[in-house]
This record gives sequence, C-alpha cells and structure tokens, in this order.
Amino acid sequence: MISDVINVEDLQKIAPVFGQLSFDNHEQVVFCNDKDTGLRAIIGIHSTILGPALGGTRMWQYNSEWDALNDVLRLSRGMTFKAAITGLNLGGGKAVIIGDSKTQKTPELMKRYGEFVHSLSGKYLTAEDVGMETSDMDLVRDVTPFVTGISESRGGAGNPSPITAYGVFMGMKAATKYKFGTDILEDKTVYVQGIGHVGESLVEHLVNEGAKVFIDDINEERLEEVSSRYGVKIYRGNDIYGENMDIYAPCALGATVNDDTIFKINAKVIAGAANNQLANEEKHGKILQERGIAYAPDFLINAGGIINVYAELENYGKQEIMRKTENIFNTTLEIFETANKDEVTTHEAALKIAEERIETRKLVKSK
Ligand code: NAD
Repeated sequence: MISDVINVEDLQKIAPVFGQLSFDNHEQVVFCNDKDTGLRAIIGIHSTILGPALGGTRMWQYNSEWDALNDVLRLSRGMTFKAAITGLNLGGGKAVIIGDSKTQKTPELMKRYGEFVHSLSGKYLTAEDVGMETSDMDLVRDVTPFVTGISESRGGAGNPSPITAYGVFMGMKAATKYKFGTDILEDKTVYVQGIGHVGESLVEHLVNEGAKVFIDDINEERLEEVSSRYGVKIYRGNDIYGENMDIYAPCALGATVNDDTIFKINAKVIAGAANNQLANEEKHGKILQERGIAYAPDFLINAGGIINVYAELENYGKQEIMRKTENIFNTTLEIFETANKDEVTTHEAALKIAEERIETRKLVKSK
C-alpha cells in the first residue's frame, strides 16, 4: 500500500490530482492499463453538457506520467470550447496513450484501447490525433462503435487532417485580413512549425496562394520530403521565434507561446493547427495583444477536423463539411473585431462565446 512508504497527506501536497494546474472541473478522468499489450492511456472527459465528449487520441513519448495527465487535461478542456464555438452538439474529451507511436503501437494495443473506450458506453468518442492514423481508428472500430475518423471504405469521413488544414488556412486568412487589410497571402512569409498530417496540407494551400513558406520539423526525413514536394525552404536556424516573419503557424505540439518565446516572437500573425498554443492563456494572450500580434485562437481555427468527424455522427456530406469549415473565416474575423471593440484578447473573446453557449444549454437542461 502506498501509505506504507509515503504519507498520503504529503503526497496530496506535492502531487494533488484535483488541484492540478490544468484541472478545470473535468467530469471524469480514466486511467487505462493493460500489462499484456503495454497499454498505458488516460482518457479525459472535461464536459458532456453539449453532448458526448469527442476528441482525438494522442500517442506520445511523454517525459513523465504527470506530463501525460497535464496534456490530456488541457486538451480535453480545449475540445469543450472548440465544439461549443463551432456550434456542434458535442462535449469535450481527449485521450493520450503513453509511448512511441513508431515503435510501440500494435494492433493488439489499439484494440485493447478500443475496449477501454467502449467501457465508457459512448460518453467519450475517440478519433485520431498526433501519432494516430485512420487505420488505427479502424482497429478501434473493430471493438467499439464509439469512434470517429474511420476510413471512408468503412463508412467514415476519412482522415480529418486536410479539413483541419483548410480551416486553419481560412482562420489564417481572416487574421491576415484583420492585420494587413487583405486576406491574400501571396508574398507573405509564413513559417510552418510541424509538417505532419495537418502541416503538410497547410503548406500546400499556402504554396498554391503564392506565400513564401519556410518549414520546420524535428523529423529530417519529413522536411526533405515536404520541401521537395512543394518547393519550400527548410528552416535551418536555431531560433525560429526570433525570425522576422509575417505569420507563425504552430502545427506541432502545444504551449510554444510561453515565457521563453513570448517576447522573441517576431511575427505579426499567429495562426496554426496545434492545440493549446498559449502556455498560459490569460498571461500570454494579453502579452500578444499588447505587442500587437494578431493571434487566431487555436480552438476556433483548428475545428475543421471535428467538423469532419461530426459528419459521421450527423450524416452530413462533404459539401456541408466544406461550408462549415469555410465559415471559420467569418467567425475568426468576428472574433478579432469583438476583441478589439471589447478590449479583450482574441482568446478571451472566443472563450466567452463558447462559455455562453454551454451556460445556455445548462439552463435549458435544468428546467
Ligand atoms: P502529426 O503527428 O501528423 O504531425 C506533427 C508534426 O510535428 C510531426 O511531423 C512531428 O515530427 C512535428 N514535431 C513534433 N515536435 C516538434 C517540434 N518541437 N518542432 C517541430 N516539429 C515538431 O500531427 P497532426 O495531426 O498534423 O497535428 C498537428 C497539431 O494539430 C497537433 O497539435 C494536433 O493536436 C493539432 N490538431 C490536429 C487535428 C487533425 O485533424 N489532425 C485537428 C485539430 C488539431
């Protein structure tokens, strides 16, 4: 027993679970463990007020289990607001699997994970995130119906990443219109950090529009591949944040706008796919505002993927997916205008709309 080796009260003080920095009244957090497959996962359900908690599964080699918990708490909370501001009847959830997706992901592990998802009886619906492919969701589908983002051949809406990228492109255009007075990205210098599923697709849109694109990734092979496919330059410096650019597009992991980078960032616009780009929403959002950097809220502009997987639940087609995703342009522009008028950060302005929708639903439910 743990109390034999450490005083539980001391443990509570050094590692409180409900008092975790990122704990925000989450409804449920589920720890999943399976010795045979090596599965160690955490499912975070932040809210089910608007509907079942939907959010992707991320597989990542975390430095510690606390990092994994922190990530799933932050990510699942973000999903609540993403669904709310996009007008979808979904709550917020997310899952993380601890491990290296390249070497530790097996069909058995994915199916076992699917069984844990199934045990929640539809309160949490999964999909793909970093380290996951559509084929992985197909494996999960073998054991549970509570999964989206499955392949088109199995009746799903397919890979959500190109739609996410299109939404980010729309949000970026809106931010550019607000900042520069035009939504045309031709000749704008854009640094795309992370050229995975979403990043690569974003690069394609940018190149088609004539932007000057630089790419950055920790995966050298991907860099060479994407660079030669689209004729874009690889960033070879050692401090991307200090580079003079029009647009910084974070498309890797979150929290890249943090205490170390916030005063170095030399971009006029930040618009990218990564979830939770602001390490501290309030503090870093405010500094960006003061520095005149137009920040397009991540949970607003990266909603294309959730719009795509929601189609599987609501049975709408590609045309409606594209219409809803394109609308990210209008919503983002409105957020910039509201934030300016109300003298709040764009993150706060977007959050307010999302929170109001949730509160209204709560009131209706309580009647
Ligand atoms: P992915 O795993 O396909 O790509 C991530 C890329 O980032 C990889 O190429 C990886 O090597 C690179 N990377 C990781 N750490 C890096 C670092 N420190 N510097 C530079 N590059 C780094 O993931 P994805 O599906 O493209 O998602 C990218 C981001 O967008 C994630 O934060 C994800 O949560 C978010 N997002 C994705 C979707 C979607 O539809 N896939 C939807 C909404 C949000």
